Amino acid sequence: MRDENCVFCKIIEGKIPSNTIYEDEEFKVILDISPASKGHALLLPKEHYADIYEIDEELLGRAMKLAKKLAIHMTEVLGCDGFNILQNNHEVAGQTVFHFHMHLIPRYQNAKNDDILMWNHESFTAEEFAEIRDALKL
Ligand code: AMP
Ligand code: ZN
Repeated sequence: MRDENCVFCKIIEGKIPSNTIYEDEEFKVILDISPASKGHALLLPKEHYADIYEIDEELLGRAMKLAKKLAIHMTEVLGCDGFNILQNNHEVAGQTVFHFHMHLIPRYQNAKNDDILMWNHESFTAEEFAEIRDALKL
């Protein structure tokens, strides 16, 4: 399953070049073209799913297992001090390529770009927290 207008599908098919660090039957892992840090990579399932809402859950489980393997490997090779795994869904959440992917972001002590994932905090009253909690309970 591919989307002919999708940049990641084109990368997977080899129509657009990429710096590939891992590939198997189901996944391709490439260096992000506009990295947040040295070694920032993107884990792409070869099948086109737009986002977390669409992706097959068994495949997602295997993606997470691979992310762990790569986090260990990349940390050893790069000597980074920490690691973020990030996954955006829909434009409002920062998604710009609508082919499911996971960002693998090595983090370095004393890095210039050390506020990669900083956000402003919202506040809620105890009643609001309770309302949110009750609405979300599964
Ligand atoms: P997101 O904002 O979560 O959708 O992330 C999309 C990511 O894809 C961004 O970090 C881009 O820098 C990256 N990206 C876009 N085009 C390419 C490309 N041709 N090769 C590698 N990374 C890309
Ligand atoms: Zn795609």
